[in-house]
Amino acid sequence: MTTGYMTHPIFLEHDTGAGHPERAARLRAVAERIASSGLAGELDQVQAEPVDRNVVRGVHAEHVVERAARLAASGGGVLDGGDTVVSRASFDAALTAVGAAVGAVDRVLDGEWQNAFVACRPPGHHAEADRSMGFCLFNNAALAAVHALARPEIERVAVVDWDVHHGNGTQHIFEDSAEVFYASLHQWPWYPGTGAATERGRGDGEGATLNLPMASGSGDDTYLRAVEDRLLPSLEAFDPQLVVISAGFDAHVRDPLSGTLVTEDFFARTTELLTSLAGGRVVSLLEGGYDLDGLAASVEAHVGALVRGAGAGTLASPA
Ligand SMILES: [Zn+2]
Repeated sequence: MTTGYMTHPIFLEHDTGAGHPERAARLRAVAERIASSGLAGELDQVQAEPVDRNVVRGVHAEHVVERAARLAASGGGVLDGGDTVVSRASFDAALTAVGAAVGAVDRVLDGEWQNAFVACRPPGHHAEADRSMGFCLFNNAALAAVHALARPEIERVAVVDWDVHHGNGTQHIFEDSAEVFYASLHQWPWYPGTGAATERGRGDGEGATLNLPMASGSGDDTYLRAVEDRLLPSLEAFDPQLVVISAGFDAHVRDPLSGTLVTEDFFARTTELLTSLAGGRVVSLLEGGYDLDGLAASVEAHVGALVRGAGAGTLASPA
């Protein structure tokens, strides 16, 4: 089986302006690293297609879609008090990021790919049902999960979010749902302020939210202990039919937006562990990661582990 890799040139046209950490250079660094890593030959690389804007309404209020569309059409501007920037191409880029996420879900659930990595921007996990925020226009991971659950045979999807920032949007969208298990490892306390260990879901979703807050200064050992002792047993009990990863790499030791000390080894190891779930059906979506070298090295390690998990790789395991 194969690992799929989805991206699109329009992601480079989502222009956040000079000095913004969530910039097009991130995806160029990822693309260059994948091309030079020896992984490229192992991947089935497919160009993403945009979704119709109605698909976004599977998660978001119409005014969220309308506001992003209008701002982009007018030449751009800012949402959410300044850090969520929209340029002329951003609405189309955001629809294409969603298209990449749901397209990867379809190929994995159809058995065409064992697993997939989606190199997209804008990211998604901060976007709430009723507003864009935190560099995120639409919640790609939430829309991927909703898309999977629309299939009659899919009843349980896990979203694992290891971006250093808590995925407030994804948690809130599925807080009441027993069909989506949302688990997050994130620096605490930190932006956006949500993600306390006491937030465990509610109603039908009680117990289907797992927050694993990490102190500033936490490194691979602390993170891996949380994955092995808390995350994996919870996921095994939930028994997902698909794992969606909100793969932000800003917990990396080199990252300027965090105080955690994680290395690419953690991302490789955790990816390996996650590929043991859900029959190995994993769809991973890029979220944050703002140091170009740290991001590139982390994506290489993560995608390498996906390739090994798909059984298609000829590469040796990392020591
Ligand atoms: Zn982040």
